[in-house]
Amino acid sequence: MTRKQLVINGEWRDASDGATMPVINPATEEVIALVAAATRDDVDAAVAAARAAFEGPWGQMPARERGRLLWKLAERLTEQIDEVARLETLHNGKPITESRHVEIPMAAECLQYFAGWADKIEGDTIPVKSGALVYTRREPLGVVAAIVPWNFPLLLAMWKVAPALAAGNTVILKPASQTPLTALALGQLAIDVGLPPGVLNVITGSGSRTGQALVEHPGVNKIAFTGDTSTGKGIMRTAAETIKHITLELGGKSPNIVFADADLDAALRGATVGIFYGKGEVCAAGSRLLVDKAIKNEFIDKLAARTKKMVAGDPLDPKTRLGAISSKSQLERVLGYVDIAKQEGATLVAGGARTDIGTGKGFFMQPTVFADVTPQMTIAREEIFGPVLAAIDFMDVDEAIARANDTVYGLAAGVWTRDIKKAHYVASKLQAGLVWVNTYNVYDTAAPFGGYKQSGFGREMSKYAFDSYTQIKTVWVDLN
Ligand code: NAD
Repeated sequence: MTRKQLVINGEWRDASDGATMPVINPATEEVIALVAAATRDDVDAAVAAARAAFEGPWGQMPARERGRLLWKLAERLTEQIDEVARLETLHNGKPITESRHVEIPMAAECLQYFAGWADKIEGDTIPVKSGALVYTRREPLGVVAAIVPWNFPLLLAMWKVAPALAAGNTVILKPASQTPLTALALGQLAIDVGLPPGVLNVITGSGSRTGQALVEHPGVNKIAFTGDTSTGKGIMRTAAETIKHITLELGGKSPNIVFADADLDAALRGATVGIFYGKGEVCAAGSRLLVDKAIKNEFIDKLAARTKKMVAGDPLDPKTRLGAISSKSQLERVLGYVDIAKQEGATLVAGGARTDIGTGKGFFMQPTVFADVTPQMTIAREEIFGPVLAAIDFMDVDEAIARANDTVYGLAAGVWTRDIKKAHYVASKLQAGLVWVNTYNVYDTAAPFGGYKQSGFGREMSKYAFDSYTQIKTVWVDLN
């Protein structure tokens, strides 16, 4: 049994009370590791180490040197990509092809992108009426705590760690208790490439014990959080006590709108990728399919046929496209929504049940599509975070927009049409931080990502990320 400690101040150590938590492989139900469950004392130690590094070697290091070290970290991650991808699949259940060819390469690329920015974070000179020299400096915030969920464990961590470090902050990373292994691997790589001790600390533990202690800690300057909307609300309340900077990337119920004039084969692929990539455990999943009434029957029939062909498989098999749901409790939660949908009168056209891959073990589920969903039904309103698609129809452009925006969330949206005017018009009307036109679920480190409404605030990736990891100092110099 692998035992994993905490990374604090460049060293591995047990939790101060010796407590551990099991990590379960959702494809086999086996305990694959025991990791430390960090206490308040451990959080204190991590904050002290991060503060010392911020005021010491990291804070004093020339920006270009910081960037060079981050680039080196990206290179080391790329060298270890096979092993890190395997860990990601083992603790999360996602297909190895997603870990090896999408998520971990994107994490390395994110690090490189921000490494390149480290010495390009500039201020302005500002003409003022008194003729004084006024300029701004973009300064780091200090100690950043990055708290991340279990669906894209390393990538979502990197979206925070990379810009935070590039801007000169130091970081305490807390992965989700279900998926701590790749964050810990990153902690080791940081030691290997010579990041000064305390620059990147990785502490594992539950949200209620370790996460809460980080949010309460007066020595933490910023919380960068991705996770559930209700957790985000609690973090906002707790962070108010110490006026911390916060950014929140929260849940979603994203509409994927298919107009009758779309390339329907492409839209069909987009609808399935939109919901079944990552087992639907994707915050931006296109979980509400809005279909033009004119093509509804034909489109749903094809979608159901396509969905029925998708079969769950061993996540470590390179041919597998649908892995295991991340945990038993998540599987139960998703199946609970299937029951609710049936009770509320939605029509099940594909899937809807637990399945297995011939081993009798693992948390596998059939990809599922419900048709005849009305906007009031629970599966049209609540985030399921699993492979369940709710298809809702609409009459015209205005109704499509109204239904798309009829949600407390606002993370992403898709629009499928050949009419360029309609595409831009609808994109402008959608209340979402990200709109995909004739595509879905594509990302690039250079393009910002983040939510409107209760999907949160702050933007990850891109140059806009620095707005969340720096503060502006204005300097007046009297020239008279
Ligand atoms: P979660 O909110 O339960 O947990 C996320 C992280 O917060 C974990 O590390 C957890 O340990 C920690 N945490 C829990 N309670 C805490 C507390 N009181 N104080 C501090 N930390 C605490 O979410 P989850 O179930 O792990 O992830 C699924 C959710 O994440 C979904 O709602 C999904 O939409 C959302 N998500 C959003 C995005 C995005 O970018 N908007 C991306 C991925 C996932």
